[in-house]
Amino acid sequence: MSARLSAAIRDVPDFPKPGIMFKDITPILGQPELFREAVEIFVARHQGQGLGKVAAIDARGFIFGGAVAQRLDVGFVPIRKKGKLPFQTYDESYDLEYGSNTISVHVDAFTPGEKVLILDDLLATGGTAAAAARLVERAGGVVVGLDFLIELTFLPGRQKLAGYPVFAAIAVA
Ligand code: AMP
Repeated sequence: MSARLSAAIRDVPDFPKPGIMFKDITPILGQPELFREAVEIFVARHQGQGLGKVAAIDARGFIFGGAVAQRLDVGFVPIRKKGKLPFQTYDESYDLEYGSNTISVHVDAFTPGEKVLILDDLLATGGTAAAAARLVERAGGVVVGLDFLIELTFLPGRQKLAGYPVFAAIAVA
């Protein structure tokens, strides 16, 4: 748990709707030493693990995912909102408070049995990350971990990801 990173997160109340306390990570991204610290936390955890790909979730996951994949010298796979990826996709839906959301991955994103780290900025209810794990597995990858910069520990995200190694650099209670 990094005190510097934790202190840099900006709480924005009632965004994008009333009752949500948005965790704004742009102050971390804007300071190279903090951005690097965040990236290196993920890199250190997965070096020497035989990873094949880092798969990150649209859109803030991409910011860390690309950097971590480069540092680990592995490929990067974008998991995107449905309708954004140009080639053939697998799609997975999950429930939101109101309605549902669908995310997609290219069908040829992974080689069979390839070890995959899933990255996102924040774990809340876990619906997005669980759908991402299903996508990776449908596309032939093996999920070796789900890493997040921030976990909202008052929500049952981890329960939804039971059976997978879950890591968060910063816990918000
Ligand atoms: P969930 O599926 O509920 O775990 O939500 C995770 C996704 O929603 C992540 O991609 C986050 O970027 C975003 N998210 C959810 N809650 C927040 C929050 N309070 N602050 C910032 N991002 C959030």
